Amino acid sequence: MPTMGALHKGHLSLIGESKKNCDLSVVSIFVNPTQFSPAEDFSDYPRMIDQDIEKLKNIGADVLFLPTKDSLYQKDFSTYINEEFVSAGLEGKSRPHFFKGVSSVVLKLFNIIKPNVAYFGKKDIQQLKVVQKIVKDLNVSVKIVGVDTVREKSGLAMSSRNQYFSKEKRIELGLIYDALKVGETEILSGTSNPDIIKKSIKKALLKIKNLKIDYIEIGDTQNLKSLKTINQSAIISLAVWINGTRLIDNIEVNL
Ligand code: AMP
Repeated sequence: MPTMGALHKGHLSLIGESKKNCDLSVVSIFVNPTQFSPAEDFSDYPRMIDQDIEKLKNIGADVLFLPTKDSLYQKDFSTYINEEFVSAGLEGKSRPHFFKGVSSVVLKLFNIIKPNVAYFGKKDIQQLKVVQKIVKDLNVSVKIVGVDTVREKSGLAMSSRNQYFSKEKRIELGLIYDALKVGETEILSGTSNPDIIKKSIKKALLKIKNLKIDYIEIGDTQNLKSLKTINQSAIISLAVWINGTRLIDNIEVNL
């Protein structure tokens, strides 16, 4: 399980899945600089290694891999991998540096740890799809397993960045999931025009104070490419800004 630490129940559910199915569970914690742009929150990203170690001990993870930045990126580092299709929209469009950094570090971690299986959260659905595509395209011998999104009571998807918000705001941010559910309900009741569905989601999202929408997209379940008509199962993905913090979430709607 590759992670950036500040572990929460979402991370722990990946580890739980691994423990159920594997002999040995290895967790990495590394805040990967190459997936942050200079304007993003690399230096502010929550780091709480003592608490993380405690949580890993409690859940029974076998190995913690805690590399330093200099050990993963030596001074002359110059090789990146770039998946060009699944990465292209959504997060890749809003954060052009992001998947290049994620893809490269994940492949490095696979090469170092040599896992048989690697677990990724569906919370970051495009990341999961990109990693699956890289493994397929580059014949990497690891099985990629997606794990369901773990949510706070309010419905807000758990994220290390939720720490930037007060308890009250986290409850209000449950409305993000409600907005995804609005989209799901419309699709399930037969609306096939994505613009109408997106409009309803937008209206639901704008109930949240100080929220700015980055994107709302409805894509196919394989590659997340925008659907012109919703006549098949789909994934609704969205990214929003709240007071300078960017949150993403998604829901799969099965037809
Ligand atoms: P991160 O530390 O944010 O890079 O996340 C590490 C792994 O945990 C990724 O595979 C994420 O998709 C996964 N993850 C993060 N949040 C959640 C969540 N709420 N539910 C399930 N998996 C999650």
